Amino acid sequence: MGKKVLIIGGVAAGASAAARLRRMDENAEIIMFERGEYISFANCGLPYFVGGVINKRNSLLVQTPRSMKNRFAIDVRIRQEVKRILAAENKVVVFDYVKNEEYQESYDYLVLCPGSTPIMPDLPGISLPNVFQVRNVPDSDIIKAYIETHQPSDAVVIGGGFIGLEMAEMLQAAGLKVHLVEAGSQVMQPLDPEMAAFLHRHLREKEVDLHLVSRVVALEGEDLAQVVRLENGQLITTDLVVMGMGVRPETDLAREAGLEIGAKGILVNEYLQTSDPHIYAAGDAIQVQDLISGEAAWLPLAGPANRQGWVVANNIAGTPRKFRGTQGTSIVKVMDMVAATTGQNAKNLTRLGVDFLSCHVHPFSHATYYPGARQMCIKLLFTPGEGRVLGAQIVGSEGVDKRIDVLATAIRSGLSVFDLQELELAYAPPFSSAKDPVNMTAYVAGNILDHQVEVVYWQDVPVKVQQGAFLIDARTPSETTSGMAEGAYNLPVDEIRNRLDEIPKDREILIYCQVGLRSYVASRILKQRGYRVKNISGGYRLYDALTHQ
Ligand code: FAD
Repeated sequence: MGKKVLIIGGVAAGASAAARLRRMDENAEIIMFERGEYISFANCGLPYFVGGVINKRNSLLVQTPRSMKNRFAIDVRIRQEVKRILAAENKVVVFDYVKNEEYQESYDYLVLCPGSTPIMPDLPGISLPNVFQVRNVPDSDIIKAYIETHQPSDAVVIGGGFIGLEMAEMLQAAGLKVHLVEAGSQVMQPLDPEMAAFLHRHLREKEVDLHLVSRVVALEGEDLAQVVRLENGQLITTDLVVMGMGVRPETDLAREAGLEIGAKGILVNEYLQTSDPHIYAAGDAIQVQDLISGEAAWLPLAGPANRQGWVVANNIAGTPRKFRGTQGTSIVKVMDMVAATTGQNAKNLTRLGVDFLSCHVHPFSHATYYPGARQMCIKLLFTPGEGRVLGAQIVGSEGVDKRIDVLATAIRSGLSVFDLQELELAYAPPFSSAKDPVNMTAYVAGNILDHQVEVVYWQDVPVKVQQGAFLIDARTPSETTSGMAEGAYNLPVDEIRNRLDEIPKDREILIYCQVGLRSYVASRILKQRGYRVKNISGGYRLYDALTHQ
């Protein structure tokens, strides 16, 4: 008789662990418990099902108990919840919702994959029937049915994270006027504020009613939530509310079993073994380590959950594998934009006291002479000395996904910006430019490290100007008609050599153009003539996003 392995939770981590274990060990007895009705469903597709982009409900169901039984000989027990772990006896107590009875099951190994639960704060009105969460297939069925039956006109989405943003887009696609309420000063917390500014502007252009720095204090109405009350006194009239305030790890079962719990989730070692050697854990419920900072981290995302399930199965099967930590690679579609991140952002590095440099570039997805090229903004963060890549953020549309994946791979491999300059990436006009956006970003970063150019960031410019710095806009006069940075003096790059007498030599010079390339050329001209000059990272395109968000 082989090992008896029980798995709690039948979606990303649980189903991955089960299938991999079977492929490695034909003799194991594998039982997977799922308290819901469905296993291995596509949580990530739920918003798109609500919005009608995915219209076949069945396509959300990646595996069924029957398919798991037929192909993998796994005993899948849906509508059965593990209520307690009797760790000392290597047993669990299960409640069967169909038979309405409790029973015990023994194990050699137990795998905890209970995931996370949406945060539902204790707000007045939170239990009203038109206040929804989005975690599983029935949740999305309920929202879809509510829209079809009641034909609502307005929706409030609370929370500007991944799920909130996706739901905002999909509710709008379903024909509703969407109000997005976010307590913080920006959506998508993994982004730095100037990168989130592009999304704020886009959401408003797309007529999402965006409320930042707005805390919801109550959902008001007799039988239904009809008004969302904000802390600042503002009232938003609505027909339904979707909660997108984030999730928290399901650690109760593990805690009650006496397993060690960290600040962020169930504690595991690098083999994903809990404090009990017979119990492994994977997915949203566990605490992991940040690859870059070494800090305890929590990353409720599908990629890591699937990989961790795979790691656990390998370890139980006797082929040891480690989970080396996470770097937070993520991507989200926001209407016509895409935002993606990997590694650390400036907010975190500053909080950790890590010395870093950054640059912003605005390359196109492919050669601009080939139709359909789309501009993106890439922010790269790197160490001041050797230029090791610490993090990257990209906001744009086409081509964001492949650049973030190259940069994620670079971080995982410990590459520097000089390594990125050398990357040989695929190019033909429909796909990229001879200098791919990743190469381009690395050239800009390399110029900073090689002291070819000094940079300054928009947030520091007003103070510097107040202290006497001279601000130059190096674009053509016609470009400046749509706006210039406050206090700037227009001096086009091509005229600079002939108009040097207009530039004070005793003052620090700050210079920008549209994206930073011409101002880089201008700053090289000035630097070689003895001026103290700094190029403003991100140029006017970033300034414009910051001032019109
Ligand atoms: P889950 O997938 O949550 O599965 C846990 C399962 O365990 C649940 O079905 C639960 O019912 C069951 N369970 C819990 N306790 C018990 C118990 N005691 N007994 C029996 N069963 C139990 N990630 C991305 O990377 N990209 C995305 O685009 C993305 N979009 C998302 C959109 C939505 C709407 C949601 C909800 C999530 C999204 N995620 C996305 C996150 C991703 O789905 C999760 O990180 C991933 O599913 C976590 O896998 P898991 O196995 O740890 O937990």
